[in-house]
Amino acid sequence: MFENVLDSSILKRAKDKGLIDFSIVNIRDYTKDKHNKTDDTPFGGGAGMVMMPQPAFDALRNIGAEGKRILYMSPRGRMLSEEIAKDLAAEEEVFILCGHYEGIDQRIIDAFHMEEVSIGDYILTGGELPAMVLIDTVSRLIPGVLSSEESSYEESIYSGLLEADMYTKPREYEGMEVPEVLFGGNHKLIALWQYENSLRLTAKRRPDLFKAYLDSPKIKELTKDEKKVLDKIIKEFEQVDKNFCI
Ligand code: SAH
Repeated sequence: MFENVLDSSILKRAKDKGLIDFSIVNIRDYTKDKHNKTDDTPFGGGAGMVMMPQPAFDALRNIGAEGKRILYMSPRGRMLSEEIAKDLAAEEEVFILCGHYEGIDQRIIDAFHMEEVSIGDYILTGGELPAMVLIDTVSRLIPGVLSSEESSYEESIYSGLLEADMYTKPREYEGMEVPEVLFGGNHKLIALWQYENSLRLTAKRRPDLFKAYLDSPKIKELTKDEKKVLDKIIKEFEQVDKNFCI
């Protein structure tokens, strides 16, 4: 499951450059059960199977994870965010345990002081996809992984606002045109249009982010024109929702 993702695109390039390295460990290789079993029925009853302590303990000890930072991908965990990703990007080494079936024996989490991390309020079949989501987003924050043009700081969320609508060639497609301002070559006007588009989108879809943006120090660095655009959007949304921005 992991190879296709880790061996392509930006992650592969980062690995080839020596900026990041991954190793995948199969817990089943460490089972002492003669049928290669790694899971069993839960004490106390209930549906499904639970991953047993022995294979996970032995795997983690064998790869030198004991005492190191270990994450357990889990819907019970802290929600993955920009903040967690930045924190992990600064680490030299991180171990990630992927659960399967109903989950894992609690003693694995306790003995290795694992941090539980969730990628969202929904359930997946195993921790592999969540781990890959985490690896991908953390890798992008490691210096040198993205070129300066790919820099993540202008992207949605990291900039504090959702990214403006984007267009590429052709200018007209099935009767739909690209906004005129984007061809004018007037970089100031283009930037203002993008700022307005970004603000409107954020205010509409993510009022939480929009409010945080209004409270951020970025507001103090706005140019006169940007301030005008911002006031216009605030008015626009105040008309729709009287509680907006309070
Ligand atoms: N019974 C568990 C869910 C098990 S899902 C519960 O109710 O909490 C099987 C495995 O998939 C989990 O052990 C975990 O590693 C992974 N997983 C599922 N959904 C996830 C999510 N939203 N975020 C992170 N990991 C998840």
